[in-house]
Formats: sequence, structure tokens, C-alpha cells
Amino acid sequence: MQHFGILLLNLCSLKINMSIFDNTQIAFADKTDAQLKKAYWMFKAIEQPALTGVGISVLNFTVKNNFPFVSGIVRSTLFEQFCGGETREESMQVVKKMFRHHVGSIFDYAIEGKAEEKAFDITCEEIKQNIKFAEGNPAIPFVVFKPTGFGRIEIYEEVGRGAELTSSQIAEWERVQKRYNEVCQMAYDRNVRLMIDAEETWMQDATDALVNTMMEKYNGEKAIIWNTLQMYRTGRIEYLQKDLERARTKNYFLGYKFVRGAYMEKERARAAAMNYPDPIQPTKLASDDNYNAAIDFTMLNLDRVSAFFGTHNEKSTELVMDKMGAIGLPHDHPNIYFGQLYGMSDNITYYLGAEKYNVCKYLPYGPVKDVVPYLTRRAQENTSVAGQTGRELSLIQKELDRRARRK
Ligand SMILES: Cc1cc2nc3c(=O)[nH]c(=O)nc-3n(C[C@H](O)[C@H](O)[C@H](O)COP(=O)(O)OP(=O)(O)OC[C@H]3O[C@@H](n4cnc5c(N)ncnc54)[C@H](O)[C@@H]3O)c2cc1C
Repeated sequence: MQHFGILLLNLCSLKINMSIFDNTQIAFADKTDAQLKKAYWMFKAIEQPALTGVGISVLNFTVKNNFPFVSGIVRSTLFEQFCGGETREESMQVVKKMFRHHVGSIFDYAIEGKAEEKAFDITCEEIKQNIKFAEGNPAIPFVVFKPTGFGRIEIYEEVGRGAELTSSQIAEWERVQKRYNEVCQMAYDRNVRLMIDAEETWMQDATDALVNTMMEKYNGEKAIIWNTLQMYRTGRIEYLQKDLERARTKNYFLGYKFVRGAYMEKERARAAAMNYPDPIQPTKLASDDNYNAAIDFTMLNLDRVSAFFGTHNEKSTELVMDKMGAIGLPHDHPNIYFGQLYGMSDNITYYLGAEKYNVCKYLPYGPVKDVVPYLTRRAQENTSVAGQTGRELSLIQKELDRRARRK
């Protein structure tokens, strides 16, 4: 009897520890055994920071110097795991496969171009093609671009701090604005949601101002233009309140992608070196609380605000789901989206898809050689975001075991 009691207690605690995101059969429905085994060994390699560090240096060197053999290896490992294909068209296979599981795709032009005018024009053209491609296609619910894809970080910085611009800087900034205007106008004309990523704080004021102008211009009927808010920053809730006030007064809609933020180390180092207050929350817990505050902000203002929760954090995702449930929203409420990066956290994405929530993957694409910087950052991020690689590994192992038992 006593043993039975202990067994029951253990079972209860097992149930409590089990997450809704543990269903690996759903998570990896799209993956063959061979793909899972390959992913396992890749994450295992990424798990070793020393190996990742050396690997990244070798990779950057060899790919830059056109070693074809290395391109082949990259293609069948990191590239296959984290990218849709070398072109939009090639990536459509992945788009279609995911959409069968109610998972949308957001093409992410992952080429990190040179900071020069020609490269900015090429990126702008690429984004226009993505908008045309997404028009009327429910499998591609958003198009995205990075502010530094359209202009130099230094020009954003100068504009953001209100510096007096030289005539050539004025012309440069006008070209940046023109690129924003062209893609936003096209997104509006074709009814395609357009999301703008967030980057370093020292260029973000200019981006925010520009995106706000676009929201005011194009979001009169609904949220077509979306900004990104990094909740690891201090003062972002106050920022949101001001945005909301302005949107209510001027009568337009707000769309936000909420993320925690990807540049913490760089931000802290710069603030320390230049002796200004650290713009990042002091602790992980404070960033988490701030992220939760953004969830509350959304739920309280759904008449004006749409949100895309870009996170691999299971608790944050569950919190959004719980809050939606508490106020009786349907899973596919048009104002709420979730998103993860392709190749990561399929357990979250595919669960949400199975439950018919609006969920998407950022799907990077581009020639293998050109997306290497993006891929190496993914590998580094998987090493530095606490527990991410371990979680991926244990889920893959669990699924491989489950499949082995069925054979
Ligand atoms: C679809 C999608 C789109 C994204 N777009 C952007 C973007 O436009 N701009 C951008 O910057 N990032 C972007 N990211 C990355 C994102 O900001 C996070 O870096 C990443 O998702 C990890 O955070 P998490 O919520 O998934 O996981 P978690 O593991 O819960 O959080 C890790 C994050 O917490 C924060 N953190 C960790 N330690 C501390 C600490 N000691 N003090 C304070 N904060 C801490 C950091 O932001 C860290 O990245 C995107 C992510 C996704 C999934």
C-alpha cells in the first residue's frame, strides 16, 4: 500500500514535470530517422563550445576561400538543419511541408550583405519579390527585413541621436526612407503583413521612428506594418504605452513582434566601454518579467494591438496560450501569432500547429556560401542560450527511442 502511494506520488510529479511540448511524435512528424540522427550529431557537436569556436573559424575561412568540399558538408549539415534552400523557389518544398501541419513560413533573406548602397538596393528588391510571393498565400503570413539590410548602421545612429547631417548623409537617409516606403506601400497594396526586425539599441531609435511613420501611414485599417520590440531592454513598456496613446489619438493599428533580444553581450560591453547606463535588464528574470508584461499589454489592448511572440521559451509560450484561454480567445485569433526559427524548437511549433494556433517559422534562405555568417550565429546561439541544445538533444533522443520501440 505504501509502495502504491509512493508510485502514485511519483506519477503525479512526473505528470507535473511533463510539458505539453514534450510530444515528440508531433514535433518531428516531418523528420525521417536519418534526418533526426543527423540533427542529433550536429547538436551534439554544437554543444561543445570549444569545438563550435574552432569549427566556426575554420568554416568562415574555408567557405570564404571557396573550398567546394566544405560547401558540400555545410549544405548537408548546418544548412539543411537551419535553412529552407538556396532560393525562395527551392524553399517552397519546406514551406508546403510545414503548412500541412498548420505551420506558416516567413522567408528570411539570410545573406548578410556588404554595407553599401548597391547591396541595400538588392536587398530591397529581394524583399519586394518576397512580398509578391507571399501575396494571397496563407502559408506565408509575413514578410520580414532587417533595418541594416536597407542602410548603414552608422546612418541610423546619427539620425537617432539627432545629429546634424551633412548633405551626403541627408541624401543617404532619404534613400533609406525611400526603401522603407516602397516595401511598405507594396505590402499595403498587396495586403501582406510586413515585419521589421530589431537590432542594436544605438540604431533602434531611428528605426522605431521610421516604422512608426509607416504604421501611421499604412495601418489605418489593420496591422500591415509590424515593429519588433526587444523586451530585454529597459523602458520598453513605457515605450509601448506611448505608441498606444499615439495610435489611439491618430487612429491606426499596432503590430509588434515581441522577442527578448539577441545582442545582450554586445550591448553590455558597449555601455561599459562608453560609460553610459546599460540598456539591458539587469537579470534574466527581469527580462522574463518584462516579456510577460508585453503579453499582458497585448491581451489588454487587443482592439488596437496585434502581437507575434517570437520565442523558444516554453513558459512564455504557455503563458500566452493560458492568457488567450482565460479571456476566451479562439486559438487562431487573428491578432496573435507565435514564431520560432527553422531548425529549432519544433516541439513548440508543431504542438501549436496541431492545436491550430497561428504559428510560423522564420525560414532563412540564400546561397550556402552567403548564409554561413547566419549559420555560425545559429550555432553560437545554440551554445549560449542556456539549455537550448540540451533540450533539442533530449527531444531528438526521445523520438528516436520511441520509434525504435515501435519497430
Ligand atoms: C521568430 C524569431 C524572431 C526573432 N527576431 C529577433 C529580432 O528581430 N531582434 C532580436 O534582437 N532578436 C530576435 N530574435 C531572437 C530573440 O531575441 C532571442 O535572442 C532568442 O529567441 C532567445 O530568447 P527566447 O525568448 O527564445 O529564450 P530564453 O532562453 O528564455 O531567453 C534567452 C534570452 O534572455 C535574455 N537574457 C539572457 N540572460 C540574461 C541576463 N542575464 N540578463 C538579461 N537578459 C538576459 C537574452 O535576450 C537572451 O537571448 C528572434 C527570435 C525568434 C524566435
